[in-house]
Amino acid sequence: MGRYTGPVCRLCRREGTKLYLKGEKCYSTKCPMVTKPAPPGEHGRRRQKPSEYGIQLREKQKVKRYYGLMEKQFHHYYELASRQQGITGENLLRLLETRLDNVVYRLGLASSRREARSLINQGHFKVNGKKVTIPSYLISVGDEIEVKDKSKKSPKFKELRERAEDRTIVPWLSLNPELLKGTVVNLPKRDDIDLDIKEHLIVELYSK
Ligand code: SF4
Repeated sequence: MGRYTGPVCRLCRREGTKLYLKGEKCYSTKCPMVTKPAPPGEHGRRRQKPSEYGIQLREKQKVKRYYGLMEKQFHHYYELASRQQGITGENLLRLLETRLDNVVYRLGLASSRREARSLINQGHFKVNGKKVTIPSYLISVGDEIEVKDKSKKSPKFKELRERAEDRTIVPWLSLNPELLKGTVVNLPKRDDIDLDIKEHLIVELYSK
């Protein structure tokens, strides 16, 4: 599967918002959205007023980048969402939130979705007792996501366990910080998703 390999902070500057792609750095004063927030490129500060299409496109790009997806993958989620009952934009966000890499990040078991993907690929996580190495795996209510016993002994996860107790977890997940084990209590509702996203713009874009 293709993946963006360029400088990620540039993506935040392009979208004009923090996408939280670099873990700790995103919360520090070294974040380029603090030090040089203008869009990248020579003409970054002099962009024209965007068209309606431009606004819709930027919203889609922003969401794709939040979740670290390429166009084909993102469109696949949109197709799935549009076939489900309910509001397509909300269905889309719920599907994206229930990807395993996002859930690992939301549980505080990785500092970013990007790091979560890498840790999942390396085989550090189990879902319902079985190793899962697919970041796009979609979780369901009642699923248990856990760091593998062997991995729990690594410095990375020892440090996470020490910090996990201080973390506030989103209401649709719960975490046992001692066991580094999370449970999906509910599927997320729109109000549970704290990202600044206008999903109706994405639906309008794809409906053209
Ligand atoms: Fe975005 Fe994080 Fe880079 Fe700041 S540090 S620009 S939030 S990826």
